[in-house]
Amino acid sequence: MGVDSVAHGQNYVDGRWEDGGGAVLEVRDPATGDVVARVPESTERDVDRAVTAARRAWDSWRWVNPSVRAGYLHATADALSAATDRVAAATTREMGKPLPEARGEVEKLAKTFHFYAEEATRITGATLANEEDGFTSIVEKEPIGVVAAITPWNYPVELIGWKLAAALAAGCTIVVKPSEYTPTAAIEVFRSLEVAQLPSGVANLVTGAGTTGRALVAHPAIDKVAFTGSGATGAAIVKTVSGVKPVSMELGGNCPLIVTRHADLDQAVTGALRRSFRNAGQICIAINRAYVHADLYEEFVGRLAKGAANLVVGDGRREENVDVGPVTNAEILERSERHVEDARTKGARVLVGGTRPPGRPAGNFYLPTVLADCTQDMLVMHEETFGPVIGVSAFTDLDAAVALANSTPAGLAAYVYSENLGEVFALGRRLDFGSVAVNNVDAGTINAPYGGRKGSGFGYEHGREGMEGYLQMKHVRVRHH
Ligand code: ADP
Repeated sequence: MGVDSVAHGQNYVDGRWEDGGGAVLEVRDPATGDVVARVPESTERDVDRAVTAARRAWDSWRWVNPSVRAGYLHATADALSAATDRVAAATTREMGKPLPEARGEVEKLAKTFHFYAEEATRITGATLANEEDGFTSIVEKEPIGVVAAITPWNYPVELIGWKLAAALAAGCTIVVKPSEYTPTAAIEVFRSLEVAQLPSGVANLVTGAGTTGRALVAHPAIDKVAFTGSGATGAAIVKTVSGVKPVSMELGGNCPLIVTRHADLDQAVTGALRRSFRNAGQICIAINRAYVHADLYEEFVGRLAKGAANLVVGDGRREENVDVGPVTNAEILERSERHVEDARTKGARVLVGGTRPPGRPAGNFYLPTVLADCTQDMLVMHEETFGPVIGVSAFTDLDAAVALANSTPAGLAAYVYSENLGEVFALGRRLDFGSVAVNNVDAGTINAPYGGRKGSGFGYEHGREGMEGYLQMKHVRVRHH
Protein backbone atom coordinates (compact mmCIF):
# COMPACT_ATOMS: atom_id res chain seq x y z
CA MET A 1 0.00 0.00 0.00
CA GLY A 2 1.37 3.44 -0.93
CA VAL A 3 2.25 5.72 1.92
CA ASP A 4 0.50 8.76 0.51
CA SER A 5 -2.67 7.17 -0.78
CA VAL A 6 -5.46 6.09 1.57
CA ALA A 7 -4.60 2.50 2.44
CA HIS A 8 -7.20 -0.24 2.23
CA GLY A 9 -6.44 -2.64 5.07
CA GLN A 10 -7.86 -6.13 5.50
CA ASN A 11 -8.07 -8.81 8.14
CA TYR A 12 -5.76 -11.82 7.92
CA VAL A 13 -7.76 -14.95 8.68
CA ASP A 14 -6.72 -18.54 8.05
CA GLY A 15 -3.88 -17.44 5.78
CA ARG A 16 -6.00 -15.14 3.61
CA TRP A 17 -6.56 -11.38 3.44
CA GLU A 18 -10.25 -10.53 3.62
CA ASP A 19 -12.61 -7.64 4.22
CA GLY A 20 -14.73 -7.65 7.34
CA GLY A 21 -18.47 -8.10 7.31
CA GLY A 22 -19.19 -4.84 9.13
CA ALA A 23 -18.44 -1.14 9.02
CA VAL A 24 -15.21 0.50 7.99
CA LEU A 25 -12.85 2.17 10.45
CA GLU A 26 -10.98 5.32 9.41
CA VAL A 27 -7.41 5.86 10.56
CA ARG A 28 -5.93 9.37 10.74
CA ASP A 29 -2.43 10.83 10.58
CA PRO A 30 -1.97 12.60 13.94
CA ALA A 31 0.32 15.21 12.33
CA THR A 32 -2.35 16.44 9.92
CA GLY A 33 -5.68 14.90 10.88
CA ASP A 34 -6.01 13.43 7.35
CA VAL A 35 -7.56 10.01 6.80
CA VAL A 36 -4.72 7.68 5.79
CA ALA A 37 -6.31 4.24 5.93
CA ARG A 38 -9.60 2.38 6.02
CA VAL A 39 -9.75 -1.02 7.70
CA PRO A 40 -12.49 -3.40 8.86
CA GLU A 41 -14.38 -2.65 12.03
CA SER A 42 -14.52 -6.40 12.57
CA THR A 43 -17.77 -7.95 13.73
CA GLU A 44 -18.45 -10.79 16.12
CA ARG A 45 -18.69 -13.07 13.08
CA ASP A 46 -15.30 -11.92 11.75
CA VAL A 47 -13.80 -12.58 15.16
CA ASP A 48 -15.43 -16.00 15.31
CA ARG A 49 -13.95 -16.92 11.92
CA ALA A 50 -10.48 -15.95 13.13
CA VAL A 51 -10.80 -17.82 16.44
CA THR A 52 -12.16 -20.89 14.66
CA ALA A 53 -9.19 -20.83 12.27
CA ALA A 54 -6.76 -20.50 15.18
CA ARG A 55 -8.47 -23.36 17.00
CA ARG A 56 -8.24 -25.60 13.96
CA ALA A 57 -4.60 -24.69 13.32
CA TRP A 58 -3.71 -25.39 16.94
CA ASP A 59 -4.45 -29.08 16.50
CA SER A 60 -1.41 -29.35 14.25
CA TRP A 61 0.77 -26.39 15.32
CA ARG A 62 0.98 -27.69 18.88
CA TRP A 63 2.73 -30.84 17.60
CA VAL A 64 5.13 -29.06 15.25
CA ASN A 65 8.68 -29.67 16.42
CA PRO A 66 10.01 -26.62 18.29
CA SER A 67 13.01 -26.36 15.99
CA VAL A 68 10.64 -26.14 13.02
CA ARG A 69 8.64 -23.45 14.83
CA ALA A 70 11.96 -21.68 15.41
CA GLY A 71 12.59 -21.76 11.67
CA TYR A 72 9.33 -19.91 10.99
CA LEU A 73 10.19 -17.31 13.62
CA HIS A 74 13.68 -16.70 12.21
CA ALA A 75 12.16 -16.40 8.73
CA THR A 76 9.61 -13.88 10.03
CA ALA A 77 12.41 -11.86 11.62
CA ASP A 78 14.27 -11.79 8.31
CA ALA A 79 11.12 -10.78 6.43
CA LEU A 80 10.52 -7.99 8.95
CA SER A 81 14.05 -6.69 8.56
CA ALA A 82 13.65 -6.70 4.78
CA ALA A 83 10.38 -4.77 5.16
CA THR A 84 11.68 -2.28 7.72
CA ASP A 85 10.98 0.83 5.66
CA ARG A 86 7.44 -0.22 4.80
CA VAL A 87 6.50 -1.21 8.35
CA ALA A 88 8.10 1.96 9.74
CA ALA A 89 6.28 4.18 7.24
CA ALA A 90 2.94 2.67 8.24
CA THR A 91 3.75 3.19 11.92
CA THR A 92 4.72 6.84 11.58
CA ARG A 93 1.77 7.59 9.32
CA GLU A 94 -0.64 6.35 11.99
CA MET A 95 0.92 7.29 15.30
CA GLY A 96 3.39 10.05 14.54
CA LYS A 97 6.75 8.94 15.92
CA PRO A 98 9.80 10.08 13.94
CA LEU A 99 10.67 7.65 11.15
CA PRO A 100 14.09 6.63 12.53
CA GLU A 101 12.39 5.61 15.78
CA ALA A 102 9.78 3.64 13.86
CA ARG A 103 12.61 1.88 12.03
CA GLY A 104 14.24 1.14 15.36
CA GLU A 105 11.00 -0.40 16.55
CA VAL A 106 10.94 -2.78 13.58
CA GLU A 107 14.58 -3.74 14.21
CA LYS A 108 13.74 -4.53 17.81
CA LEU A 109 10.78 -6.60 16.72
CA ALA A 110 13.00 -8.63 14.39
CA LYS A 111 15.35 -9.21 17.31
CA THR A 112 12.39 -10.35 19.42
CA PHE A 113 11.46 -12.95 16.79
CA HIS A 114 15.05 -14.24 16.70
CA PHE A 115 15.12 -14.36 20.50
CA TYR A 116 11.92 -16.38 20.80
CA ALA A 117 12.98 -18.64 17.93
CA GLU A 118 15.90 -19.65 20.09
CA GLU A 119 13.78 -19.95 23.23
CA ALA A 120 11.41 -22.30 21.38
CA THR A 121 14.20 -24.85 21.11
CA ARG A 122 14.94 -24.64 24.85
CA ILE A 123 11.58 -25.48 26.36
CA THR A 124 12.58 -27.73 29.20
CA GLY A 125 10.61 -29.61 31.82
CA ALA A 126 11.95 -31.71 34.68
CA THR A 127 12.38 -35.27 35.88
CA LEU A 128 11.73 -35.64 39.59
CA ALA A 129 12.72 -38.11 42.23
CA ASN A 130 9.54 -39.57 43.69
CA GLU A 131 8.44 -40.02 47.27
CA GLU A 132 8.00 -43.72 46.50
CA ASP A 133 10.43 -46.15 44.83
CA GLY A 134 9.53 -47.36 41.37
CA PHE A 135 7.96 -44.16 40.11
CA THR A 136 9.32 -41.32 38.03
CA SER A 137 7.60 -37.98 37.66
CA ILE A 138 8.08 -36.08 34.45
CA VAL A 139 7.04 -32.45 34.26
CA GLU A 140 6.32 -31.40 30.70
CA LYS A 141 5.60 -27.96 29.33
CA GLU A 142 2.82 -27.73 26.77
CA PRO A 143 1.28 -24.82 24.91
CA ILE A 144 -1.84 -23.29 26.49
CA GLY A 145 -3.82 -23.16 23.24
CA VAL A 146 -5.45 -20.26 21.41
CA VAL A 147 -4.34 -16.79 22.50
CA ALA A 148 -6.24 -13.51 22.15
CA ALA A 149 -3.80 -10.59 22.00
CA ILE A 150 -5.11 -7.04 22.39
CA THR A 151 -2.51 -4.36 21.79
CA PRO A 152 -2.20 -0.55 21.99
CA TRP A 153 -0.86 2.09 19.60
CA ASN A 154 2.23 3.57 21.29
CA TYR A 155 4.57 0.77 20.13
CA PRO A 156 2.19 -0.75 17.61
CA VAL A 157 4.78 -3.09 16.12
CA GLU A 158 6.85 -4.18 19.10
CA LEU A 159 3.91 -4.78 21.42
CA ILE A 160 2.28 -7.14 18.95
CA GLY A 161 5.59 -8.92 18.53
CA TRP A 162 6.21 -9.60 22.21
CA LYS A 163 2.96 -11.54 22.35
CA LEU A 164 3.01 -13.02 18.87
CA ALA A 165 6.61 -14.30 18.91
CA ALA A 166 6.40 -15.71 22.44
CA ALA A 167 3.04 -17.42 21.81
CA LEU A 168 4.13 -18.99 18.51
CA ALA A 169 7.41 -20.13 20.07
CA ALA A 170 5.45 -21.86 22.83
CA GLY A 171 3.28 -23.66 20.27
CA CYS A 172 0.14 -21.57 20.72
CA THR A 173 -1.92 -20.10 17.92
CA ILE A 174 -3.15 -16.54 18.12
CA VAL A 175 -5.68 -13.91 17.10
CA VAL A 176 -4.37 -10.34 17.33
CA LYS A 177 -6.59 -7.27 17.64
CA PRO A 178 -4.37 -4.20 17.24
CA SER A 179 -5.32 -0.69 18.35
CA GLU A 180 -7.84 1.13 16.18
CA TYR A 181 -5.25 3.91 15.85
CA THR A 182 -2.56 1.67 14.34
CA PRO A 183 -4.08 -1.21 12.35
CA THR A 184 -1.95 -0.90 9.22
CA ALA A 185 1.30 -1.20 11.19
CA ALA A 186 -0.11 -4.52 12.39
CA ILE A 187 -1.07 -5.49 8.85
CA GLU A 188 2.53 -4.87 7.74
CA VAL A 189 3.80 -7.11 10.56
CA PHE A 190 1.45 -9.85 9.40
CA ARG A 191 2.74 -9.58 5.83
CA SER A 192 6.05 -10.81 7.20
CA LEU A 193 4.38 -13.90 8.67
CA GLU A 194 2.92 -14.51 5.22
CA VAL A 195 6.37 -14.16 3.61
CA ALA A 196 7.69 -16.67 6.17
CA GLN A 197 4.93 -19.05 5.03
CA LEU A 198 3.60 -19.61 8.51
CA PRO A 199 0.90 -22.32 8.22
CA SER A 200 -2.65 -21.00 7.69
CA GLY A 201 -4.60 -20.13 10.81
CA VAL A 202 -1.63 -20.12 13.18
CA ALA A 203 -1.62 -16.30 13.39
CA ASN A 204 -4.71 -14.24 12.57
CA LEU A 205 -5.40 -10.52 12.58
CA VAL A 206 -8.73 -8.77 13.08
CA THR A 207 -8.84 -4.98 13.07
CA GLY A 208 -11.38 -2.87 14.92
CA ALA A 209 -11.91 -0.92 18.12
CA GLY A 210 -13.23 -1.79 21.58
CA THR A 211 -16.28 -3.71 20.35
CA THR A 212 -14.09 -6.03 18.29
CA GLY A 213 -11.72 -6.45 21.24
CA ARG A 214 -14.64 -7.28 23.52
CA ALA A 215 -15.93 -9.94 21.10
CA LEU A 216 -12.48 -11.52 20.94
CA VAL A 217 -11.95 -11.58 24.69
CA ALA A 218 -15.46 -12.94 25.25
CA HIS A 219 -15.05 -15.78 22.74
CA PRO A 220 -15.35 -19.11 24.58
CA ALA A 221 -12.72 -20.85 22.41
CA ILE A 222 -9.93 -18.55 23.63
CA ASP A 223 -7.55 -20.15 26.15
CA LYS A 224 -5.52 -17.12 27.21
CA VAL A 225 -5.84 -13.35 26.94
CA ALA A 226 -2.75 -11.14 26.67
CA PHE A 227 -3.45 -7.44 26.94
CA THR A 228 -1.47 -4.20 26.93
CA GLY A 229 -3.38 -0.95 27.36
CA SER A 230 -5.11 1.27 29.88
CA GLY A 231 -6.11 0.24 33.39
CA ALA A 232 -9.77 0.94 32.65
CA THR A 233 -9.80 -1.39 29.64
CA GLY A 234 -7.84 -3.99 31.58
CA ALA A 235 -10.49 -3.97 34.30
CA ALA A 236 -13.24 -4.28 31.66
CA ILE A 237 -11.45 -7.24 30.06
CA VAL A 238 -11.23 -9.15 33.34
CA LYS A 239 -15.04 -8.95 33.48
CA THR A 240 -15.55 -9.82 29.81
CA VAL A 241 -13.42 -12.96 29.64
CA SER A 242 -15.64 -15.99 29.23
CA GLY A 243 -15.07 -18.73 31.77
CA VAL A 244 -11.91 -19.13 33.80
CA LYS A 245 -8.66 -18.66 31.92
CA PRO A 246 -5.27 -17.00 32.33
CA VAL A 247 -5.06 -13.32 31.55
CA SER A 248 -1.89 -11.23 31.46
CA MET A 249 -1.99 -7.45 31.55
CA GLU A 250 0.44 -4.61 31.17
CA LEU A 251 -1.38 -1.46 32.18
CA GLY A 252 1.02 1.41 32.13
CA GLY A 253 3.21 3.37 34.43
CA ASN A 254 3.44 6.90 35.90
CA CYS A 255 7.06 5.86 36.54
CA PRO A 256 9.24 7.68 39.06
CA LEU A 257 12.89 8.73 38.83
CA ILE A 258 14.97 9.23 41.98
CA VAL A 259 18.14 11.31 41.64
CA THR A 260 20.11 10.99 44.86
CA ARG A 261 22.75 13.45 46.10
CA HIS A 262 25.37 10.95 44.84
CA ALA A 263 24.11 10.97 41.24
CA ASP A 264 26.14 11.81 38.17
CA LEU A 265 24.12 14.84 37.16
CA ASP A 266 25.00 14.74 33.45
CA GLN A 267 23.87 11.16 33.16
CA ALA A 268 20.72 11.79 35.17
CA VAL A 269 19.69 14.70 32.95
CA THR A 270 20.43 12.77 29.76
CA GLY A 271 18.44 9.78 31.02
CA ALA A 272 15.51 11.89 32.17
CA LEU A 273 15.33 13.72 28.84
CA ARG A 274 15.32 10.52 26.88
CA ARG A 275 12.85 8.61 29.00
CA SER A 276 10.42 11.53 29.43
CA PHE A 277 10.18 12.77 25.88
CA ARG A 278 11.06 9.86 23.58
CA ASN A 279 7.93 8.79 21.69
CA ALA A 280 6.36 12.06 22.94
CA GLY A 281 6.18 10.50 26.41
CA GLN A 282 3.82 7.81 25.17
CA ILE A 283 5.71 4.94 26.76
CA CYS A 284 4.42 2.75 29.57
CA ILE A 285 7.83 3.07 31.21
CA ALA A 286 8.21 6.83 30.56
CA ILE A 287 9.56 8.90 33.44
CA ASN A 288 6.53 10.92 34.46
CA ARG A 289 7.76 12.27 37.84
CA ALA A 290 11.21 12.93 39.28
CA TYR A 291 12.33 13.26 42.90
CA VAL A 292 15.69 15.04 43.00
CA HIS A 293 17.94 15.69 45.99
CA ALA A 294 17.86 19.35 47.03
CA ASP A 295 21.64 19.72 46.53
CA LEU A 296 21.29 18.98 42.80
CA TYR A 297 17.76 20.17 42.26
CA GLU A 298 18.13 23.64 40.67
CA GLU A 299 20.94 22.46 38.42
CA PHE A 300 18.92 19.39 37.41
CA VAL A 301 15.72 21.25 36.52
CA GLY A 302 17.68 24.00 34.73
CA ARG A 303 19.53 21.54 32.52
CA LEU A 304 16.46 19.41 31.95
CA ALA A 305 14.49 22.46 30.83
CA LYS A 306 17.30 23.51 28.50
CA GLY A 307 17.45 20.04 27.00
CA ALA A 308 13.68 19.92 26.56
CA ALA A 309 13.67 23.33 24.87
CA ASN A 310 16.23 22.06 22.35
CA LEU A 311 14.12 19.09 21.27
CA VAL A 312 12.74 19.48 17.76
CA VAL A 313 8.97 19.03 17.62
CA GLY A 314 7.55 18.20 14.22
CA ASP A 315 5.92 15.89 11.73
CA GLY A 316 7.83 12.62 12.04
CA ARG A 317 7.07 11.65 8.47
CA ARG A 318 7.63 14.79 6.44
CA GLU A 319 10.27 16.66 8.43
CA GLU A 320 13.92 15.78 9.12
CA ASN A 321 15.63 15.53 12.51
CA VAL A 322 12.43 15.47 14.52
CA ASP A 323 12.82 14.42 18.16
CA VAL A 324 9.20 14.62 19.24
CA GLY A 325 6.27 13.93 16.92
CA PRO A 326 2.62 14.68 17.57
CA VAL A 327 0.86 12.75 20.29
CA THR A 328 -1.25 10.06 18.72
CA ASN A 329 -4.73 11.15 19.70
CA ALA A 330 -6.81 13.98 21.13
CA GLU A 331 -7.21 12.20 24.46
CA ILE A 332 -3.46 12.35 25.15
CA LEU A 333 -3.33 16.01 24.09
CA GLU A 334 -6.22 16.86 26.42
CA ARG A 335 -4.70 14.92 29.33
CA SER A 336 -1.29 16.59 28.87
CA GLU A 337 -2.96 20.00 28.94
CA ARG A 338 -5.05 19.06 31.97
CA HIS A 339 -2.06 17.76 33.95
CA VAL A 340 -0.05 20.90 33.18
CA GLU A 341 -2.92 23.24 34.09
CA ASP A 342 -3.54 21.33 37.31
CA ALA A 343 0.13 21.63 38.28
CA ARG A 344 0.25 25.30 37.33
CA THR A 345 -2.79 26.15 39.49
CA LYS A 346 -1.34 24.22 42.42
CA GLY A 347 1.92 26.21 42.28
CA ALA A 348 4.32 24.39 39.92
CA ARG A 349 6.74 26.41 37.79
CA VAL A 350 6.39 25.70 34.08
CA LEU A 351 10.05 25.93 33.05
CA VAL A 352 9.53 25.05 29.42
CA GLY A 353 6.61 24.04 27.21
CA GLY A 354 3.15 24.00 28.72
CA THR A 355 1.42 24.80 25.43
CA ARG A 356 0.92 23.50 21.93
CA PRO A 357 3.68 24.74 19.62
CA PRO A 358 2.81 28.15 18.21
CA GLY A 359 2.30 28.10 14.44
CA ARG A 360 1.05 24.51 14.23
CA PRO A 361 -2.71 24.74 14.09
CA ALA A 362 -3.22 21.24 12.69
CA GLY A 363 -2.22 17.98 14.32
CA ASN A 364 -1.93 16.82 17.92
CA PHE A 365 1.30 18.60 18.81
CA TYR A 366 2.31 19.47 22.37
CA LEU A 367 5.62 20.97 23.50
CA PRO A 368 7.93 18.96 25.79
CA THR A 369 7.10 20.34 29.22
CA VAL A 370 9.12 20.49 32.45
CA LEU A 371 7.21 21.30 35.62
CA ALA A 372 9.35 22.21 38.66
CA ASP A 373 8.41 22.43 42.35
CA CYS A 374 5.72 19.80 42.01
CA THR A 375 3.90 18.35 45.00
CA GLN A 376 2.41 14.89 45.28
CA ASP A 377 -1.19 16.16 45.10
CA MET A 378 -0.63 17.31 41.50
CA LEU A 379 -2.02 14.93 38.88
CA VAL A 380 1.31 14.65 37.07
CA MET A 381 2.88 13.17 40.23
CA HIS A 382 0.35 10.39 40.74
CA GLU A 383 -1.46 9.73 37.45
CA GLU A 384 0.06 8.59 34.18
CA THR A 385 0.14 11.48 31.69
CA PHE A 386 1.31 9.43 28.68
CA GLY A 387 2.36 12.68 27.03
CA PRO A 388 5.55 14.81 26.85
CA VAL A 389 5.32 16.13 30.43
CA ILE A 390 7.53 15.59 33.48
CA GLY A 391 6.93 16.86 37.02
CA VAL A 392 9.95 17.40 39.29
CA SER A 393 10.09 17.71 43.07
CA ALA A 394 12.99 18.28 45.51
CA PHE A 395 13.72 16.04 48.50
CA THR A 396 16.15 16.01 51.41
CA ASP A 397 15.20 12.68 52.99
CA LEU A 398 15.78 9.69 50.68
CA ASP A 399 13.38 7.47 52.65
CA ALA A 400 10.61 10.00 52.08
CA ALA A 401 11.40 10.08 48.35
CA VAL A 402 11.17 6.28 48.16
CA ALA A 403 7.85 6.40 50.01
CA LEU A 404 6.51 8.94 47.50
CA ALA A 405 7.77 6.88 44.57
CA ASN A 406 5.96 3.84 45.98
CA SER A 407 2.83 5.77 46.98
CA THR A 408 0.89 5.57 43.71
CA PRO A 409 -0.90 2.56 42.18
CA ALA A 410 1.84 2.33 39.54
CA GLY A 411 4.28 -0.59 39.75
CA LEU A 412 5.81 -0.99 36.30
CA ALA A 413 9.26 0.61 36.35
CA ALA A 414 11.33 2.99 38.47
CA TYR A 415 14.63 4.74 37.73
CA VAL A 416 17.51 5.64 40.03
CA TYR A 417 20.62 7.71 39.47
CA SER A 418 23.27 7.26 42.18
CA GLU A 419 26.98 6.48 42.23
CA ASN A 420 26.74 5.14 45.78
CA LEU A 421 26.71 1.35 45.83
CA GLY A 422 24.84 1.03 49.13
CA GLU A 423 22.12 3.38 47.91
CA VAL A 424 21.85 1.51 44.62
CA PHE A 425 21.24 -1.85 46.29
CA ALA A 426 18.92 -0.42 48.93
CA LEU A 427 16.76 1.38 46.37
CA GLY A 428 16.81 -1.62 44.04
CA ARG A 429 15.21 -3.60 46.86
CA ARG A 430 12.83 -1.04 48.25
CA LEU A 431 11.23 0.31 45.10
CA ASP A 432 8.02 -1.67 44.58
CA PHE A 433 8.16 -1.98 40.79
CA GLY A 434 8.57 -4.81 38.29
CA SER A 435 11.73 -3.20 36.88
CA VAL A 436 14.26 -0.83 38.43
CA ALA A 437 16.83 0.72 36.09
CA VAL A 438 19.89 2.18 37.80
CA ASN A 439 22.09 4.73 36.03
CA ASN A 440 20.35 3.91 32.76
CA VAL A 441 16.83 4.20 31.39
CA ASP A 442 16.43 0.89 29.59
CA ALA A 443 14.05 -0.80 31.99
CA GLY A 444 12.88 -3.24 29.33
CA THR A 445 15.38 -5.48 27.53
CA ILE A 446 14.47 -8.54 25.51
CA ASN A 447 16.33 -11.06 27.69
CA ALA A 448 14.85 -10.16 31.10
CA PRO A 449 11.28 -10.44 32.41
CA TYR A 450 9.23 -7.26 32.09
CA GLY A 451 5.94 -6.80 33.88
CA GLY A 452 3.97 -4.68 36.29
CA ARG A 453 2.95 -4.89 39.91
CA LYS A 454 0.01 -3.35 41.73
CA GLY A 455 -2.12 -1.29 39.32
CA SER A 456 0.34 -1.86 36.46
CA GLY A 457 -0.84 -5.41 35.89
CA PHE A 458 0.42 -8.96 36.13
CA GLY A 459 2.24 -11.50 34.01
CA TYR A 460 5.55 -11.05 32.20
CA GLU A 461 6.74 -10.36 28.70
CA HIS A 462 10.33 -10.54 27.43
CA GLY A 463 12.83 -13.14 28.49
CA ARG A 464 12.16 -16.82 28.97
CA GLU A 465 9.35 -15.81 31.33
CA GLY A 466 7.57 -14.14 28.42
CA MET A 467 7.25 -17.53 26.73
CA GLU A 468 6.45 -19.39 29.96
CA GLY A 469 3.22 -17.39 30.10
CA TYR A 470 2.03 -19.32 27.04
CA LEU A 471 2.99 -22.72 28.43
CA GLN A 472 1.25 -24.93 30.95
CA MET A 473 2.76 -27.77 32.92
CA LYS A 474 1.78 -31.41 32.90
CA HIS A 475 2.87 -33.95 35.48
CA VAL A 476 3.26 -37.45 34.02
CA ARG A 477 3.83 -40.03 36.80
CA VAL A 478 5.22 -43.31 35.49
CA ARG A 479 5.33 -46.55 37.48
CA HIS A 480 8.18 -48.64 36.18
CA HIS A 481 8.22 -51.90 38.07
P1 ADP B 1 -4.67 2.79 24.86
O1 ADP B 1 -5.43 4.06 24.90
O2 ADP B 1 -3.39 2.83 25.63
O3 ADP B 1 -4.55 2.17 23.50
P2 ADP B 1 -6.93 1.19 25.55
O4 ADP B 1 -7.06 0.40 26.79
O5 ADP B 1 -7.94 2.21 25.24
O6 ADP B 1 -5.48 1.79 25.73
O7 ADP B 1 -6.80 0.25 24.29
C1 ADP B 1 -5.93 -0.86 24.23
C2 ADP B 1 -6.52 -1.89 23.31
O8 ADP B 1 -7.70 -2.43 23.91
C3 ADP B 1 -6.95 -1.39 21.95
O9 ADP B 1 -6.64 -2.36 20.98
C4 ADP B 1 -8.45 -1.22 22.10
O10 ADP B 1 -9.16 -1.27 20.90
C5 ADP B 1 -8.78 -2.41 22.98
N1 ADP B 1 -10.05 -2.29 23.73
C6 ADP B 1 -10.70 -1.18 24.13
N2 ADP B 1 -11.80 -1.50 24.85
C7 ADP B 1 -11.85 -2.85 24.92
C8 ADP B 1 -12.74 -3.81 25.54
N3 ADP B 1 -13.78 -3.43 26.25
N4 ADP B 1 -12.45 -5.12 25.41
C9 ADP B 1 -11.35 -5.53 24.72
N5 ADP B 1 -10.50 -4.68 24.12
C10 ADP B 1 -10.72 -3.36 24.21
